[in-house]
Amino acid sequence: MAGDDDHGGDAGDRSFDTTVAIVGGGPAGCAAGVFTARDGLETVIFDRGPSSLRRCASLENYLGFPVGVDVETFLELAHDHATRAGCRLREDLVESVTALPDGGFRVDPQDGDPIRARFVIAATKYDGEYLRGLDDDDALFVTDDEGGERFDREYPDRRGRTPVDGLYVAGPLAGCGDQAIIAAGHGATVARTLLGELREADGFWGHFAEHYDWRRKVENRREEWVDPERWVERFEAAAPEAVDPATVRRLAETYADEYGGDYVEPDVADRRAERGQRRLAAALEDEIILDTVDEAAILERANAIETADSKTE
Ligand SMILES: Cc1cc2nc3c(=O)[nH]c(=O)nc-3n(C[C@H](O)[C@H](O)[C@H](O)COP(=O)(O)OP(=O)(O)OC[C@H]3O[C@@H](n4cnc5c(N)ncnc54)[C@H](O)[C@@H]3O)c2cc1C
Repeated sequence: MAGDDDHGGDAGDRSFDTTVAIVGGGPAGCAAGVFTARDGLETVIFDRGPSSLRRCASLENYLGFPVGVDVETFLELAHDHATRAGCRLREDLVESVTALPDGGFRVDPQDGDPIRARFVIAATKYDGEYLRGLDDDDALFVTDDEGGERFDREYPDRRGRTPVDGLYVAGPLAGCGDQAIIAAGHGATVARTLLGELREADGFWGHFAEHYDWRRKVENRREEWVDPERWVERFEAAAPEAVDPATVRRLAETYADEYGGDYVEPDVADRRAERGQRRLAAALEDEIILDTVDEAAILERANAIETADSKTE
């Protein structure tokens, strides 16, 4: 689904080089990118410059890593996750973001070519200086305890929206708690906010506009939930008066299609589980893997390889 840009409105407008530009490839920016790219929005993540995560001696408190994880392994997995979801990662520092006259932004990095993006998500804990000029300085910046200026973390609202159309802020820069897992959760929240707004622009309303990305077990599939007519009835019952019946039906059928496409067969789930474990294993040092694997299993595998080799000779 990555790269489809199938939203209405101007989300996939070709006058932009990308739909979403994310400044910062830490936990907040990568999490946001996973959500926007998986939903089909072209997403570029810029990542270089002052990093909070890279200052950690070891990352603690991130769920799923019971004894902590080293930052390089975590970032390798986070960047791979974002790129496999469909993001393009550019190792470049964003120097400025400028509003374009007809909407959207020009993003100017230090080294590579500038790009035009419909949306910008700022996800750089260590400040948003590159946003200067998008609004009055008094609105964007506050004086810190040492008398210097820093981005006002209360400028965005709790979901990362700002008064500037198309500009969102994620992670501690938006005032969420300063822990990696909270930054990642907030990045996801901000991306889902953007996606919800695009769905509203496509005509969806209320909770039908909320973005979700679920994979369900096919054995839990109930026919009434994938019956388009059932969704048409539900949409008709909840439709705002201004929406005409043909549009209600079209949206309900689209929703039913999305919903019906979520079911995963057991063999596919198994393949995904194996693929996931292999990717995790690839991030680990060979020596550590060998240390943790039962010796009998290593010998058995070594024997199997030897037997296979002798047959091919
Ligand atoms: C010493 C220390 C120890 C910590 N220990 C822990 C811990 O154990 N557990 C925990 O959960 N949290 C810890 N934290 C907090 C954690 O690092 C942050 O909450 C989290 O990293 C914030 O994520 P972020 O994505 O918002 O910002 P960052 O992690 O700072 O990521 C921002 C990214 O944006 C890039 N960037 C910056 N400016 C630009 C630009 N202009 N253009 C392009 N890219 C840019 C940076 O290179 C960086 O990769 C610690 C922080 C510090 C300082």
